[in-house]
Amino acid sequence: MIELRGINKSFGKTQVLFDIDLTVERGQHVVLFGPSGSGKSTVLRSMNMLAEPDSGSLKVDGIEFGPGLPGESGKRGGRLALRRRVGMVFQQFNLFPHLCALDNVALPLRKVHGMSRGKAREKAAIALRRVGLIDRAANYPAELSGGQQQRVAIARALALDPEVILFDEPTSALDPELVGEVLKTMREVAETGMTMVVVTHELGFAKEIGDLNVFMEDGRIVESGPRGFYENCKSERAKQFLQAVM
Ligand code: ADP
Ligand code: MG
Repeated sequence: MIELRGINKSFGKTQVLFDIDLTVERGQHVVLFGPSGSGKSTVLRSMNMLAEPDSGSLKVDGIEFGPGLPGESGKRGGRLALRRRVGMVFQQFNLFPHLCALDNVALPLRKVHGMSRGKAREKAAIALRRVGLIDRAANYPAELSGGQQQRVAIARALALDPEVILFDEPTSALDPELVGEVLKTMREVAETGMTMVVVTHELGFAKEIGDLNVFMEDGRIVESGPRGFYENCKSERAKQFLQAVM
């Protein structure tokens, strides 16, 4: 579904990703974890070209994107094709404060899929129902709890019928008592077979859904492994990190 090959990325003089190779199979649930500043967000953002790599290649659903490539990549059409396939949920929900929950979900359907207002709102209602928030459709973000806002953001990603959804620390900005409802929604999305890449520090959740678990440090993938990884990881750094943080 997603193939990162030899991705390097610098911001100014500082290199933040070194030769990242990562393959995400269709239907797989990948957990990315590691210290703050290790490059997790930049890896996620490389997967939808929010961060453009300096070198290396990105393939999504068989389509190649990357610096200096002909065809779809680099052009607006290419980005749009990518946005249609790759949804993203951020730590800070990024909802529009002046739009109700329904219109927050409907707006990208109009922008990305070119749907009419009526059709987009219909589709948005279905997505809100999936995350259990149809009764909040008319509420503005300020009238919703953080957990509800994040579930609206998940509905917004789902509504676009993406091939994969990227979650960047989706529960890190939430009060502890609100984490559970968001994890529950993510679990339900996972159960539909959606391909997911999740940056999280929620160890229990990671153990539960991680088909592939990737530990990053200093812009590199240190170690990765399948189910059971958290009990069996080999590198001292991954062990230390798990003990200290998760
Ligand atoms: P993580 O998500 O693991 O905390 P990030 O991918 O956000 O790590 O960041 C990796 C490194 O890149 C950090 O040192 C961070 O300061 C730097 N960085 C990230 N985004 C930018 C940016 N837009 N401009 C400059 N430096 C950045
Ligand atoms: Mg981050």
